[in-house]
Amino acid sequence: MTHLFHRQLRQTLPEAASAKGLYITDTAGKTYLDACGGAAVSCLGHNHPDVIAAMAAQMARLDYAHTSFFTTRVAEELADTLIAQAPEGISHVYLLSSGSEAMEAALKMARQYFVELGQPRRTNFIARRQSYHGNTLGALAVGGNAWRRAQFAPLLIDVTHVAPCYEYRDRLPTETPEQYGQRLVRELEAELLRLGPDTVIGICAEPVVGATLGAAPPVPGYFQGIRALCDRYGVLLIADEVMCGMGRTGTLHALEQEGIVPDIMAVAKGLGGGYQAIGAVLAHGRVYDAFDSGSGQFMHGHTYIGHPVACAAALEVQRVLQREKLVEASRVQGLALRRKLDAALGGHAHVGDIRGRGLFLALELVADRASKQPFDPKLRLNGRIRDEALARGLMVYAMGGTIDGRHGDHVLLAPPFTVQERDLDTLVERLAESVEAAL
Ligand code: PLP
Repeated sequence: MTHLFHRQLRQTLPEAASAKGLYITDTAGKTYLDACGGAAVSCLGHNHPDVIAAMAAQMARLDYAHTSFFTTRVAEELADTLIAQAPEGISHVYLLSSGSEAMEAALKMARQYFVELGQPRRTNFIARRQSYHGNTLGALAVGGNAWRRAQFAPLLIDVTHVAPCYEYRDRLPTETPEQYGQRLVRELEAELLRLGPDTVIGICAEPVVGATLGAAPPVPGYFQGIRALCDRYGVLLIADEVMCGMGRTGTLHALEQEGIVPDIMAVAKGLGGGYQAIGAVLAHGRVYDAFDSGSGQFMHGHTYIGHPVACAAALEVQRVLQREKLVEASRVQGLALRRKLDAALGGHAHVGDIRGRGLFLALELVADRASKQPFDPKLRLNGRIRDEALARGLMVYAMGGTIDGRHGDHVLLAPPFTVQERDLDTLVERLAESVEAAL
């Protein structure tokens, strides 16, 4: 009998007892290779001594100070560090405690930006189908994950959703990747015009779609097209880099690879690497300036924003990433993992696609490769792969399901950037066995 209200009431989970590096050990002594960083969180692996020391030192110095009374050195340093590494033009950091909080704050910051500018008529967001932006009501509203939204739909603000960039399924055989991207941008523009551009606050998108599509990267030119639309109509581009950001795709921010800068960017997960609950909104100077020359106050805030211990953890995670050149490791080991996956599973009759960037990769499974026909969602294939993997001491992120039957089950891989060649071999071997056992 448990008094803990678990996510799944009818599932018996192993009890995690300790963790080190890439492995979590349960109370029965079984070890699990963490090939997904939980949910793309653990970028350094577990129990990094430098992060633990930084947190302990901060805890001993100053446990907590409410942000309406004080600023702290550690929060200031974290903001300085994030801005020093951010794309040109991004000037300020608003700290939060999770990805959902970061997206909520991003939406409210975007709305208030236009109020500050004297454009209160702007009330609409455009987002994309098959996306995930978090589980709180605002973030869920912009999210396009039908399964997660369904029962809460009556509580959600009205958001229009356009097609995501999903080349494997949606690019026509007659189109080049660039032409496909431009078609999506034209569809987005049509939606903007239908709503009336001066009613639109922003466009929300995950640069590389994580949980809902499985590491689906954009085609060349697609985000540049969106950036151009935002500039043309004075609409904000809100990038959700909660899952794909902070080095996961082989560059610190995923949009760096598209050569554009968003107006507002949400990060979390890898920011604290799982050592503490922390997220952040990175704001472009023009957004910050509107607040600075306007009301001088962002009408937002939570009790734990800028928590000193969370900031100390995130700051040290960033320092370790730099010291150990781990963003580059994410890129290089990502290529190695990709090669191994291609070799082991690329020709498999039920592996339709292997995709992603850096150490953010996924398999999409299909009943039939030629027609890309997904498996029947009732088979719960990805859940079975997850269970088979767990039985073999491997953690993979396979939560999404086929949701609307419009795409195949996917299995997401996001190991810590400290992963070594031999770990990748173990990972791929156990994954291949798990896929076979689940089919
Ligand atoms: N945005 C994206 C792209 C995510 O993948 C997630 C979580 O998976 C979130 C937002 C929400 O983050 P959190 O679970 O920390 O609230």
